[in-house]
Amino acid sequence: MEREVYMDYSATTFVKPEVLEAMNPYFTEYFGNPSSIYHISRMNKVIINKSKQKIADVINSRRDEIFFTSGGSEADNWALKGVAFANKDKGKHIITTTIEHHAILNTCKYLEKQGFDITYLKVDKDGFIDINELRDSIREDTILVSIMFANNEIGTIEPISEIGKLLNEKNILFHTDAVQAITHMPIDVKKMNIDMLSMSSHKFYGPKGMGALYIKKGTNIDNLIHGGGQERGLRAGTENVPGIVGMGFAIDIANKTMNEENKRLVILRDKLIDGLLKIPDSKLNGPRKNRLPGNVNVSFGGIDGDILLVILDDIGICASSGSACSAGAIEPSHVLTSIGVKSDYAKSSLRLTLGANTTDDEVKFVIDKITDTVEKLRKNKVEN
Ligand SMILES: *Cc1c(COP(=O)(O)O)cnc(C)c1O
Repeated sequence: MEREVYMDYSATTFVKPEVLEAMNPYFTEYFGNPSSIYHISRMNKVIINKSKQKIADVINSRRDEIFFTSGGSEADNWALKGVAFANKDKGKHIITTTIEHHAILNTCKYLEKQGFDITYLKVDKDGFIDINELRDSIREDTILVSIMFANNEIGTIEPISEIGKLLNEKNILFHTDAVQAITHMPIDVKKMNIDMLSMSSHKFYGPKGMGALYIKKGTNIDNLIHGGGQERGLRAGTENVPGIVGMGFAIDIANKTMNEENKRLVILRDKLIDGLLKIPDSKLNGPRKNRLPGNVNVSFGGIDGDILLVILDDIGICASSGSACSAGAIEPSHVLTSIGVKSDYAKSSLRLTLGANTTDDEVKFVIDKITDTVEKLRKNKVEN
């Protein structure tokens, strides 16, 4: 291997050293159970609230509207099941989209088995929902709409403010999976009329196994875990104090550096897209505008995406086809299928996501190596 190039920041990120440093004492020194009353525990209650405040500040919510979870998947599950079961007497209709993360889609499948009726909104060729189609899908018995803030495969940023405005007028609860969006764009849950929002710490340089769900005060939602009084009794269990501290530090750092970092990433992203599109018969998946700063997704006609990934891995490039969750699956990505990418192009897709350690030099290296590899794979095919 010539070098190690990590371009899969949407799958996960490393923990920043200053985040790890902040977490460390909470494993060994300040290990007290936050529910106990002696001094080492009292401190932990304080630090949990400080961490909640840091998260609340990033999305303009109240501190007591932040509930810790084990990650984005748990937050998504809780939002959907919690609202569905708590409001089932009001109605059993839920609206989502065809391009959600599996944490949403598979929860919806489960809810269908429980007797709920789910409408899956289609998206256009770039992955955007149609606000008119959403308006037309709303029924008397619609209790919840869940639409992701930004897509993890193709980077599409949905018109969240418009959606929030419509649903607020219709008095329907609005949940958004903001796992990819948070710390990459300004989010204001009050202005955007968001009732619930999922996030995950390991997507913004915090520890894995930590996330949060913002739940607007007054939202009718069932408990997730029954037990003690933690998380206002809604999600019981002794708090993951080191994880909570790490998540708070990580979101604070990422938010403070957001504008600068976005500018840098957009330049690198566009350079990478332009470089890869010079390869014959290559296509960009997802939009040029309203796209996540670090997301690149390109298909190369006639190439098997999984073979390409293995060769890139040999060279030292870590990338992904579709999304990490569907890698290895035989079917083409549900997101690419939804935006109308033909099966062979969907199977030849490559997702490269950029982040904190990505450099201009890495981008050049990756363009060179992919150009070479695609050319060689095509030549071999012709010769065989
Ligand atoms: C990563 C991701 C999740 C899942 O988060 P975990 O913390 O890994 O459970 C959910 N939604 C989106 C859009 C994601 O990118």
